Amino acid sequence: MAIMGGASQSLVSDAFISDLLDRVNIVSVIESRIGNQLKRNGANYKCCCPFHDEDTPSFVVNENKGIFTCFGGCDDGKAGNAINFVRKFENLGFVDAVKKLCEECGIEHPFGKEENLDPKAQLRKDILAALSDANVMYQGFLKDPQKQGEAVSYLKSRGIDGQVAKEFGLGVAPKEWAIVMKRLSRKHGADVLKEAGLLTEKNGKKFDMFRDRIMFPISDSRGRVIGFGGRKLDNESDAPKYINSPDTLVFRKSNELYNFDKAQNAGRKTGKLYIVEGYTDVIAHGQFGIKDTVAPLGTAFTDGQLEKVLSVTSEPVMCFDGDSAGRKAAWKAMNMALPHLNDGVRMKFLFYPEGHDPDTLLRSEGVDAYQARLETAMPLSQFVVTELTNRYGNNSPEAAASIAAEAADVISRMPHGVYREVMLKATAATIGLPEQRLIDAMLHQHPQAQIKPAHPIKGRPHPGVSPTRETTSMKGAQPKQSANTAPRGAHFTGGSMIPSMTPPKIGVAPRFQQFQQRYETEIKQLKETGDVEAFTRKAVITELKDNRGAVNARYLADNLTKTIQSFVGEESAKTMAPKIRDYTLTATEKFNKRLVELEKQSHSPSRNPSPSQGMGMGR
Ligand SMILES: [Zn+2]
Repeated sequence: MAIMGGASQSLVSDAFISDLLDRVNIVSVIESRIGNQLKRNGANYKCCCPFHDEDTPSFVVNENKGIFTCFGGCDDGKAGNAINFVRKFENLGFVDAVKKLCEECGIEHPFGKEENLDPKAQLRKDILAALSDANVMYQGFLKDPQKQGEAVSYLKSRGIDGQVAKEFGLGVAPKEWAIVMKRLSRKHGADVLKEAGLLTEKNGKKFDMFRDRIMFPISDSRGRVIGFGGRKLDNESDAPKYINSPDTLVFRKSNELYNFDKAQNAGRKTGKLYIVEGYTDVIAHGQFGIKDTVAPLGTAFTDGQLEKVLSVTSEPVMCFDGDSAGRKAAWKAMNMALPHLNDGVRMKFLFYPEGHDPDTLLRSEGVDAYQARLETAMPLSQFVVTELTNRYGNNSPEAAASIAAEAADVISRMPHGVYREVMLKATAATIGLPEQRLIDAMLHQHPQAQIKPAHPIKGRPHPGVSPTRETTSMKGAQPKQSANTAPRGAHFTGGSMIPSMTPPKIGVAPRFQQFQQRYETEIKQLKETGDVEAFTRKAVITELKDNRGAVNARYLADNLTKTIQSFVGEESAKTMAPKIRDYTLTATEKFNKRLVELEKQSHSPSRNPSPSQGMGMGR
């Protein structure tokens, strides 16, 4: 088949280009530019040509060959590769297109350097060859009674039969020290085997990285084995239960996902991707026909992995254990994901009942019930509010205020756009607070455009209804500015009804230093007079007003106590701590009650939230 415009340009070696084309997935390259239009068509993908107007799809992409062809007349039906596509679609020259693709797959481009050939390209190929042979070898051992050890009985105990083992390429590393060395070093050389992460070295002696373990091959998006996960077979041994290949030239644990190569195709069909905890969860799903499933490799979910997931689907479903460790992991994953949640993305969360995993559930309740369970995955807003409600309770104004402040912090870290607005509405509705409360709390976390430096305590307008709601509209909001760089005492000039300051960011950023800066004057007084009560009163009231009640009272009390400890003394802080806490909690509660009454009075009857709607979180 004729290929358009030869890749061989004197600027860069053919070896580099062929390595680059090896690494990129043409389907991802195209989809990242035209959206999810490509539909599976036999061995190919097909859609309407992005380069000419047509109603019947004649644009065909072959993922394995890494080429696209328009059979509707473009380029006389000549095939093109990923570089050709980027050049054509983005109207770029060869060099710029190559630079762009290099950037997208995280390698350095070769231009403007003396050495324009990737010196590692050959080693990378050698490593891949060694890993491929190792994979074949480990799979063979699983069928070899001399080598399989306890592997077969372990797999059977997990309900994994020969068919499934084959589908996932499972193998076994026997209980020997140097089988890789013995069988593969003549062909590949010990150095390459070590670079591939198959051998490890201690005291100048090389021996096998994996021994007496079930082997799970990990592949790149093109299905080439780039590393392994290994689960120990001897439960008595104190070796770690799971180990992975170390990071190598071809494998970066934090960027890879187990089963991604197969799941990406399934996920493009279903429009979903399930992210489960581990290898065996992926396999359990696979056994029951849920093929669109991946897992991180024993580490927390990273943004590199999320990027991979989002290249396949806009609806990732994160599945976690229902215990507190699982919930913590989910919260962490959510925090990592926030900045990546652009429009069109709908991240969901699913928790298994405590003590269950996909395997036990699928076996006990059957695949239909399990599928129904997957369908109930929580949208992001529900997850956030549920977690915060678990944390703070749902029956006090103080809790509502804490939840609002934290939810606002979460939303403010999402990119501006429709999803963020949807999230804002849904969250407000779920908490049972007026949306404006959340918007205000968010704006307080974004000192921006309309700020003027002023001492926050003086010249405060009366807390009434905001005269200009427009200025608090989400559309006018600017990119986020870090709370830490916020001008001290900055506040909005008419956006919200009470001038704002940075509200508490619980567990997100240490705020003690800012707190000290903000109350510089008061702290000076405190040092002179030692009047702890006056200081506490002033700070609490200021915080409540500035944040329209959205204050985490416990956190605030901690900051007050710390301040007193630093400037008055340990003894005083100790005796005052319970009083400060009581005062802060009660004041916050009172303030929020009053605020609800105020809101009630100032709204027209149709928009009028009742106090119970305003603060109620019973759900
Ligand atoms: Zn065309």
